Amino acid sequence: MNDLAPRTLTTADDLARAGLITEDERGDVVRVTARYALAVPPAVHDLLRNAEYAPALRRQFIPSPQELESSPGENADPIGDHAHAPVKGIVHRYPDRALLLPTLTCAVYCRFCFRREDVGSQGVLSPAEMDAALDYIRATPAIWEVILTGGDPLVLSARRIGEIMRALDDIPHVQVIRVHTRVPVAMPERIDAGLIAALKSTGKAVYVAVHCNHADEISPAMRAACGRLSDAGIPLLAQTVLLRGVNDSVETLETLMRGLVATRIKPYYLHQLDYAPGTGHFRVPVEEGRALVKALRGRVSGLAQPTYILDIPGGAGKVPLTSGYVSAADDGSFAIEDPSGNLHAYPTRAE
Ligand SMILES: *Cc1c(COP(=O)(O)O)cnc(C)c1O
Ligand code: SF4
Repeated sequence: MNDLAPRTLTTADDLARAGLITEDERGDVVRVTARYALAVPPAVHDLLRNAEYAPALRRQFIPSPQELESSPGENADPIGDHAHAPVKGIVHRYPDRALLLPTLTCAVYCRFCFRREDVGSQGVLSPAEMDAALDYIRATPAIWEVILTGGDPLVLSARRIGEIMRALDDIPHVQVIRVHTRVPVAMPERIDAGLIAALKSTGKAVYVAVHCNHADEISPAMRAACGRLSDAGIPLLAQTVLLRGVNDSVETLETLMRGLVATRIKPYYLHQLDYAPGTGHFRVPVEEGRALVKALRGRVSGLAQPTYILDIPGGAGKVPLTSGYVSAADDGSFAIEDPSGNLHAYPTRAE
């Protein structure tokens, strides 16, 4: 590699040399990175260099000693993936859809990651492991949708992605392929013609769900990358994690959701933070999250409303945490609360 080419920062020394941490912080970062993977690719480094952007982004990507503290309820496998892994690289919890994890490498390591005990060094599925994972999908006709996740599937080469797409294309019961990725934010330059051609090398419906937590992640390069995907006919969704100190105000959420919709990305889920180890400093209580989502409902377009979602600890699945707008009265009618908090009677129809 050219010495002058920007490269991904992966150690405390790299961060110190880049001026992203001080000498005093270096020891803490060494301790954290002994346990959890670190990667700050050039596009994220560019975002972090912008002083106006720094606080919300720094918190997501620069290690903190708080990651070594544990809080009640935290668990190395917070949403029970391991209990639903019939073969390596597959998580199958809902009958009609399965996760396929071709790699546990990511473009950037989010400090609050729910799979933080798994992502990082464990690399990609071997060809034999990938064959076994695909065999499981082939042999399970109930699987209608395959969700490529990880790790980040878009760190794989276009050639590997094309191979996976074509293998899924050959499985008749698989109708939809969804790709969960942070690459448009963290390595937007990867979304090039070759990668898009690979994603399109299947006749199946392909959706891309972009992980994005703050409007400042919507850089010109990220917008351009998402524009290339949309122009190629790939619908884009967004997943956001509700995070203390990053996006825990209605103004911040409003700016993010408007930014996503204006980038042709439909907000899909706002995730309640999972109980992964060392993430207590990011946790926003559910009641606060519900109030934020309710306030958002009163302020922005329906296009800009994600579903506030909880993955039940232990593996029971996802459920919406959306605030209640409807309460039943004794006489069988309903009280409906509008965005300003006023109640309206709503009669139920007689049978
Ligand atoms: C989150 C998740 C899905 C996808 O759920 P949707 O509600 O369809 O987005 C599928 N399988 C597993 C195991 C999951 O954790
Ligand atoms: S990109 Fe996703 S899987 Fe990777 S570290 Fe971030 S949250 Fe975890």
